[in-house]
Amino acid sequence: MLIYLADLTHRGLVLSSNVFPLSIGLVAAYFEKKRPKTAEFELFKYPEDLSARLEMRPPDIVGFANYSWNLGISYEYTKIIKDLWPETTVVFGGPNYGLTEEEVSQFWKTYPLIDFHIVREGEEAFVQLLDALAASGMDATALKAQAKGLPNCHYLAEDRVITGPMLPRLSLPEIPSPYLSGLMDKFFDENLGPMIHTTRGCPFQCGFCTEGASYYNEVGQRNEGLREELHYIARRVRGPKDLYITDANFGMFKQDHDKAQLIAECQKEYGYPKYIHVSTGKNQKERVIEIAKMLDGALSMAASLQSTDPAVLKNVSRSNISLPKLAEVGLQANKVDTGTYSELILGLPGDSIAAHFRSLRDTVEANFDNIRMYQLIMLPQTELNTPENRRRFLMRSKHRIMPRSFGRYRLAGRDFVAVESEEILVENSTLPFDDYVTCREMDLTVEILHNGKVYSELQGLCKSYGLSWFDFILRFFERRRTYTLELRTMYDEFKTSHSARLWNSRQELEESVGRDIDMILGDDRGTNEMSMAKATAFFQLFDQINTILFDELAFLLDEQNRLDEATKVFLTECRRFSHLRKTDLIHYETEFVEAFSFDLAKLEATHFEASPEEAKLAQPRRYTVTHLPPQRKQLSSYMKEFGNSRDGLGKMLMRYPHLHRVFRRAHVVQ
Ligand code: SF4
Repeated sequence: MLIYLADLTHRGLVLSSNVFPLSIGLVAAYFEKKRPKTAEFELFKYPEDLSARLEMRPPDIVGFANYSWNLGISYEYTKIIKDLWPETTVVFGGPNYGLTEEEVSQFWKTYPLIDFHIVREGEEAFVQLLDALAASGMDATALKAQAKGLPNCHYLAEDRVITGPMLPRLSLPEIPSPYLSGLMDKFFDENLGPMIHTTRGCPFQCGFCTEGASYYNEVGQRNEGLREELHYIARRVRGPKDLYITDANFGMFKQDHDKAQLIAECQKEYGYPKYIHVSTGKNQKERVIEIAKMLDGALSMAASLQSTDPAVLKNVSRSNISLPKLAEVGLQANKVDTGTYSELILGLPGDSIAAHFRSLRDTVEANFDNIRMYQLIMLPQTELNTPENRRRFLMRSKHRIMPRSFGRYRLAGRDFVAVESEEILVENSTLPFDDYVTCREMDLTVEILHNGKVYSELQGLCKSYGLSWFDFILRFFERRRTYTLELRTMYDEFKTSHSARLWNSRQELEESVGRDIDMILGDDRGTNEMSMAKATAFFQLFDQINTILFDELAFLLDEQNRLDEATKVFLTECRRFSHLRKTDLIHYETEFVEAFSFDLAKLEATHFEASPEEAKLAQPRRYTVTHLPPQRKQLSSYMKEFGNSRDGLGKMLMRYPHLHRVFRRAHVVQ
């Protein structure tokens, strides 16, 4: 049997998915273990590679990983495959498949050319499906005609959907590493980041999350072979020095300590990984901090809250750690200098302006240096996304293009357009649409002012003057349209994007994109509005915002009769230093030599929590403000990966949120 497995990414200015296709690697590795030497596998990530191989040698089976970021393109391939090579069986599998009766029936109405769709865990189901196919002489039509239930598998026969029984959960150590058998070798290129998993499942039951389903509540662990796998990867990695771990709660289990040790071993031997993308555990924060300490700043610690409002949390069956505990965690994490982030979702049932702003305040005040603010995506297979819950909470949703996930492709001389979309909530019973947009504008403000510690000088100064940093952000937010034309335009464009780039149904969206693809490929309709606005704020408007914020702090102190001459001079110099550290950041060869009358090293060391008297120098000193060699290297690798388009820069800011690590540093001129 010749089998192609594809977990496709769209290719625009930047890749829509830049990670190794782990899921199809696991399916292939498991199959090769269970049925050795019965099939030849080839794995694909890039559409043009798949097209070339299909044209050269059509396979017996094509399997597509079904995620929200590649269902559209995979189905466009299916249409042509079924037309040109009808004897090839097409199998889909992945979480982007709803399990309510309504969703299942709608799926097969929309995608009738798919032969089989594997649901839930796919490895064993794929083996059993191929056994059944082989027994039917590799004839999918004959197999489907029997209308027999196949494990973890759905298919269309005689105009109805046949659904098979569910297999028990797979034991993770049963699945061999797809890296060690060489299946992933072709993906070690300059674009993709290696991805591994060491657990599968999550003990919690959040209503908006695929892993919250009871099916996934038991957590499978995998330790064996991990050392070899990590060393194998570290020796070959050529692209960004990142590692993606799919675990839902890394650091929460005692085995994670040993796993972190293995990663730390690799860091020492190969300088890899430099950045680890993973969700850290919801509980056992002490262990998570301990692990973060071992990993040399590569791991950011998460305290994903989604909301801090008790009514919202009850509606989605979630409980968080307490706020005092959260603040303690933030404090401890800052002491060991690991990055920290929290996650919030706007629009969960019960959410409102008050609840959302409260959640933002709680996370900002708990000292998390990045707050990731998401919209609620109506994901298949989640508790919240049922007809009853949609009715109960008066949820209104819209469809949008998934950022960067569309394009024009070619197979066997046929051109086609493919686009991916997702359904997001824009209104519910407690959050009218206008309030939703206001919350999004506040999210953008937190993104610009707080995330990445871009204005950490002001954060520190607020603290030293006894002012609330969150109130300061709020003050800017309330006056955001009054400062400059450019800022007002940025907020207006951001606001408009919440109604201009949304469609009522997936079909409407696909038709519109198909009609206007050339225009969409050339403008910014398919990008992420938050990352675009952030790129504008940082790379185009930084100097204005920096000035506005220091002026605001001076006004505020003046209102309180605390703005004396010494403070004025101090704020002016801090503003100048903040400017030199970050202006024109991507030109990392640029350096400045200027005199300051305050001790910049002391200010940096105290995170600007210092008074003018404490930081004042007896004599002004000349400083060079410049990038250190590792910072230059880092910026150069970012530029290579993302380019310098506004879209690329926006993606860079979102993907590497610790921007302050590449700000210029001050050195005394000797
Ligand atoms: S949101 Fe996180 S904690 Fe909740 S079910 Fe999903 S993976 Fe588990």
